Amino acid sequence: MGYILETKDLTKRYGSKIAVNSVNMHIPEGQIYGLIGRNGAGKTTIMRMISGLSTPTKGDYALFGTTGAKRRRLLSQVGVLIEAPGIYPKFSAQENLRIKCIALGVDPRMEVPQLLQFVGLEGVDRRKSAGSFSLGMRQRLGIALAMVGQPKLLILDEPINGLDPQGIAEVREILVRMRDERGISILISSHILGELDKVADWYGVINEGELLDEFSSEQLHLRSGKYVKIRTGNTEGALEVLSGMNIQAQLMEEKDCIRVEGHLDQTAGIARAIVNAGIDLQEIFLRTLSLEDYYLNMTGGGHHE
Ligand code: ATP
Repeated sequence: MGYILETKDLTKRYGSKIAVNSVNMHIPEGQIYGLIGRNGAGKTTIMRMISGLSTPTKGDYALFGTTGAKRRRLLSQVGVLIEAPGIYPKFSAQENLRIKCIALGVDPRMEVPQLLQFVGLEGVDRRKSAGSFSLGMRQRLGIALAMVGQPKLLILDEPINGLDPQGIAEVREILVRMRDERGISILISSHILGELDKVADWYGVINEGELLDEFSSEQLHLRSGKYVKIRTGNTEGALEVLSGMNIQAQLMEEKDCIRVEGHLDQTAGIARAIVNAGIDLQEIFLRTLSLEDYYLNMTGGGHHE
């Protein structure tokens, strides 16, 4: 697999504090990579180093397979949204994007309307200043700003932090479209694993400066142990129906409950078959053993905001 970004023993030390410790991260091309870790875990420090905003104390990274002086030129193909997105509050979304285009030597005439449309800000009153934007609008403008110059890799630090569910859904949709329509690779950080569920193709979990694990979304779903739980007044009958559908299932310790591994996308069909067989179906739903909890335990507990 081709990596758009690969780090090797990437380390950052501030005095005696090791903020990032020998991190070996692998970001596949054309995919969304979620970097998960609690506040202070080292996500921003990693992102600052690989965006060229800060120098590693030790270790290195390859961008598009390139290191050293050659890599510096490639940094123009990396779009970055880290911490304050550099929005001028007195200016409108259009004006903010125009300024960034001019700074990067990009013709704003095509770029600005396209970007506004891409992030769903095209309908906003052109006189509205960015300072009066909602958080969600500001984040979308921040993403559009990071996209100026059509980067191949986008680095977004906590772009969904503090957004409401609708705002989160909007940003997710933008990210997926960037990947699918433009083939952009995306590195996105979050302190909540669940927020990136359904969006990220790969995950890296970081704690106290160390990368604990890297895994694909398929591996995540296997590990998170999703299963279908069925509650029925007639478990024996329901098991028979499932067996007739070639679906393996077992009785759970919990009274009147059956557990089905896999077949997560067949809940409607399963429910229909059980009901059609005249069997009393009380509940059917997807259960998840939260990987979030698993990792929170692994990283010493704590809670998310
Ligand atoms: P957050 O989401 O809160 O930004 P994070 O995972 O991005 O968390 P970092 O900001 O990378 O974490 O910080 C990692 C550690 O390095 C923290 O303990 C932080 O206090 C420390 N740190 C970060 N920047 C500096 C700095 N400039 N000087 C000293 N220590 C720093």
